[in-house]
Amino acid sequence: MTNANEAVAKHDWSCEDSQVLYAMSKWADGFFSVNKMGHVSVRPIEGQDLHIDIIDVIHSARSEGASLPLLIRFQDVISSRVRRLNQTFRKAIQESGYEGTYRSIFPIKVNQLQEVVAEVLEAGQEFNIGLECGSKAELLAMLPLVADETLLLCNGVKDRTMLTLMLNAQQIGQQVMPIIEKYSEFEQLMNLAEVRQMKPRLGVRLKLNTKGSGRWFESGGASSKFGLTIPELVQLIRTLENREMAGQLELLHFHLGSQIADIQVLRSAVREIMQVYADLMLRGMQIKYLDVGGGLGVNYGGDYDSPESSINYGLREYANVVVYTVKEICDERQVPMPHLLSESGRALTAHHSLLVVPVLGVHRPDSPYMAEFPAEPPAVVLRMTSVYSDAQSAEKMSMLLECYHDAQEIRQETEQMARLGYLSVEHMAQSDSLYWSICREVLRKLTAIGSIPVTAEQIELEKQLTDMYLGDFSVFHSIIDHWAIGQVFPVMPLHRLQDKPERRGQLVDLTCDSDGKVSQYVTSSGTSDCLPLHNFRQDESYYLGIFLVGAYQEILGDAHNLFGRVDEVHVYARAEEANGFWIETLLKGISVKEMLSQVQYFPNDLGRRMSEFIRRQINAGRIKPAEGTRILNNYTQRLGDTTYCDVSSNEPL
Ligand SMILES: *Cc1c(COP(=O)(O)O)cnc(C)c1O
Repeated sequence: MTNANEAVAKHDWSCEDSQVLYAMSKWADGFFSVNKMGHVSVRPIEGQDLHIDIIDVIHSARSEGASLPLLIRFQDVISSRVRRLNQTFRKAIQESGYEGTYRSIFPIKVNQLQEVVAEVLEAGQEFNIGLECGSKAELLAMLPLVADETLLLCNGVKDRTMLTLMLNAQQIGQQVMPIIEKYSEFEQLMNLAEVRQMKPRLGVRLKLNTKGSGRWFESGGASSKFGLTIPELVQLIRTLENREMAGQLELLHFHLGSQIADIQVLRSAVREIMQVYADLMLRGMQIKYLDVGGGLGVNYGGDYDSPESSINYGLREYANVVVYTVKEICDERQVPMPHLLSESGRALTAHHSLLVVPVLGVHRPDSPYMAEFPAEPPAVVLRMTSVYSDAQSAEKMSMLLECYHDAQEIRQETEQMARLGYLSVEHMAQSDSLYWSICREVLRKLTAIGSIPVTAEQIELEKQLTDMYLGDFSVFHSIIDHWAIGQVFPVMPLHRLQDKPERRGQLVDLTCDSDGKVSQYVTSSGTSDCLPLHNFRQDESYYLGIFLVGAYQEILGDAHNLFGRVDEVHVYARAEEANGFWIETLLKGISVKEMLSQVQYFPNDLGRRMSEFIRRQINAGRIKPAEGTRILNNYTQRLGDTTYCDVSSNEPL
């Protein structure tokens, strides 16, 4: 492309093109788009035309004292998702003439943050939303929050203390129900209840034969680590019947695992459990609730062959499959229709938060062209020089590929010679610099030719010549599922979207770990191992957003290299406010000293040791006392910093 053409192409680029390029229609779910300024904006409230510019939020947060990286939570997005899920089920119930209700149950393990749970509960109030917990800590956190009518389901391994807490809750009138996962839990529950002369309310999780689908398929199926087998269920029912407590079993539950990739699997599981339900009802049990578990998926924009990142259905189809399948079997077997519950966690929270990552700099893997070459190059280097001039004059594809192959071969040879000590550092530098110049030349020309299919060499060159954008974040803290299971998260620039991104980059993080990078991106042409990005300018901020991080990431994230919790703001949309929003809370991330205390380094002790060390240097006359004090103060002050890089302040250190 000539320069004139480039100018035209740049002029032709529009914000809509950016929207397409970053495949926003696949994952934005109506919440995110690109505005006229070329910034990403959020429309957090469904049905309201209120758009919040994310760059405005960043500026506001900074002026209130937040530092970067920054996690932004759009509280209204949580409410929108809660409403959408419940309304979709209500609609399916109405349209099908279903004779029961639906309630969604929020499994807090997906995001336990108090403000998130509070938002879910508030938005869910009109829909009678419930909660689910899976451990003692989660149970203790939720017990004080459940109002009279709120259902609290307790999955997971339950010991005596937890079962006792649940019975106590039932004694004070709370709607708390243990979901029995192991037969021994049932026996323990019955013993504890007998001592109190209580009839416990309970539910049962079943091990179905239907295997889950997607990455977490083992959460369902006969080999699952959770749930009762059918013989155990029969045993449990006989025991209840013998004690005239048949009416105490109120709920049947299955859980296929997170991110159900294939809707047919859900249908098959619902069929399977409904036959059990119908049998039990005909036998005289009085089961009230059918709980289809979690697993309602989120489309992260990944290709269809990666189930952790994409799904083959929408909310409506999910609700329809549950409602119509249950109805069909109840009609067939002439049993009353149960109230429906689903424990959708990911689907309620994934969209509401995004991580703002400032780019700190760009590294290039290749060496630049050296202006000055050393004298008397050896034969191999001369050969490299001549391949370079061939590449400069080559036009045909075959010729270009030949240049690339030759360069590779010569490079191997130089590496070998260098290892044996036959090549000076100066000549190694010359050869390396020429090699990369050849690569850049060949790639530029191959791209211009634009052959289809793209040659393997071009793909290889693109990979080798991808820029590395250093981001102020940690993959292990903020998007651990990307590292752990290869889940794709949408990443894109938050501004400059009116301009065509002219470079290809890979986002790498601050950790000293080669896995600390984003290796898959959502683009218009499917998932790709690099992302179109804008030219980084050293004196200008360039912010990237990592989207859909509201489910699981924060609590699973770890402290690799002691990078910890980032600053976060909770944003509410409000038309009357200047830019359509206000920041309700600013939570500072973890400081270096808090982080160090977790691994048993205590600030006082560190300060004392540092001070003693510096005093010795002063006494030895190595530095002046005033300078020593400045160095010590600076050390102590830095202990109060966040664990990330500081891109903002220019204060003298
Ligand atoms: C984890 C879990 C959920 C939540 O699953 P999502 O995929 O986040 O909807 C629901 N129920 C149980 C029993 C779980 O273990």
